[in-house]
Amino acid sequence: MISRNACTLAGAVAALLMVACGVSEDQEVQLGRQNAEQINSQIPLVRDPIVTNYVRDLGMSIARTTPRADLDWQFFVVNSPEVNAFALPGGFIYVNRGLIERAENLDELAGALGHEIGHVVRRHSVQQMEKQTGANVAVGLGCTLTRLCNSDVARAAIQVGGAALFARYSRTDEAEADSEAVLNVTAAGLDPHGIPALFRRLIEERRTAPLRIAAFFASHPLEEDRIVATEREIAALDPRGLEGLRVDDPSYQAFRAHLRDLPAPPEPPAQDQISPDQLRRQ
Ligand SMILES: [Zn+2]
Repeated sequence: MISRNACTLAGAVAALLMVACGVSEDQEVQLGRQNAEQINSQIPLVRDPIVTNYVRDLGMSIARTTPRADLDWQFFVVNSPEVNAFALPGGFIYVNRGLIERAENLDELAGALGHEIGHVVRRHSVQQMEKQTGANVAVGLGCTLTRLCNSDVARAAIQVGGAALFARYSRTDEAEADSEAVLNVTAAGLDPHGIPALFRRLIEERRTAPLRIAAFFASHPLEEDRIVATEREIAALDPRGLEGLRVDDPSYQAFRAHLRDLPAPPEPPAQDQISPDQLRRQ
């Protein structure tokens, strides 16, 4: 058990840490990068450059409109048929192949990316860590910065990584990320109606064939009220700002067709997630 004392100790040893046990932007990015390296070595990613470039360009066009445009945003496509998307602190965004397959129009994938970008913009997983495990975060980062780790500290850092990966966002977090998505997607010249459109599709699929979308609903509480709230926010925008926004275009459909033609993703095991236990064993 890593205590607050350990935090103070690490701070005393490592002048690098401005330890109030809050998380600075540098620490946030470093934590995200550590997590991303670990995740990328453990989950199947689509490496095809047509796919990765497309998602990166779309994601960047949205992230660039946000107050955190200066983060080193990175986008990854997970080679999984399940529907999911998640964000790591510091601007590392993941979207599953299964979600892209469901997003029939460009504005729907844009909405999903805009939502995950919104979680990073609002620092939701960082806030969770600060609330729950602030001491551990600082110790974990101190460990990396100073290499003064023992194995217990290293384990704590990895547990924090697990917590970030498995962030269960509150309804308030989801509402905030949706609001961010409405703004950032619109600012990128894309139609924000794609956000509620994708929600509708996923809620309908939960009724009829829930297997592939369980992970998404586990990490992103989604009910009809989010559709209503998002549509209300779109309706409150200046209508002139909604003119000429892109719903879809041929390049998006070409990208999806290309993705569809790639070898089928590996069939996920029953639990298609890295469990916190697996992370701890690293
Ligand atoms: Zn979310």
